[in-house]
Amino acid sequence: MALLDILSYPDKFLTKKAKPVTNIDGAIQKTIDDMIETMYNAPGIGLASIQIGCDKSIIVYDLSYGENEGSLQVFLNPKIIETCGETVSENEGCLSVPDFRSDVKRSASVIIEALDREGKPLKIEAKEYHAIVLQHEIDHLNGILFINRVSALKRELYKRHIKKQIKQDDK
Ligand SMILES: [Zn+2]
Repeated sequence: MALLDILSYPDKFLTKKAKPVTNIDGAIQKTIDDMIETMYNAPGIGLASIQIGCDKSIIVYDLSYGENEGSLQVFLNPKIIETCGETVSENEGCLSVPDFRSDVKRSASVIIEALDREGKPLKIEAKEYHAIVLQHEIDHLNGILFINRVSALKRELYKRHIKKQIKQDDK
């Protein structure tokens, strides 16, 4: 297994849409394993393929940060097929958007369809925090960062902060 670099805003790749995985081969299994290791190492609660520069539709997440065996999830080609209600995720953050946290409006529950890493189709209903994580990671596969879901003012302030930082790094 290998640790992968996590792309961060404003990397253009983060706005790319992932393509469906059609052939679950050894290369895909290796990417999945590397994503898992990279997520735990960060540490993060979830990671989407787009964040590590791969445009195949894969997400991995573990709501327990690796504390509970069996809570690791790997989904290929996940799609939200139904949403219900509204909630606000408090202090949402993202490995690709450093130094920024914000409340984000999200659906309260979602039903998703995906394949597991063996290619078996599955359908799950997720609520509350689980639903928020799934919406966040599936957004990545559609080229959407959570800063696209906060107010224009907040986003603008963050963009300025990043621009300043990039200038400082150039010096
Ligand atoms: Zn993220």
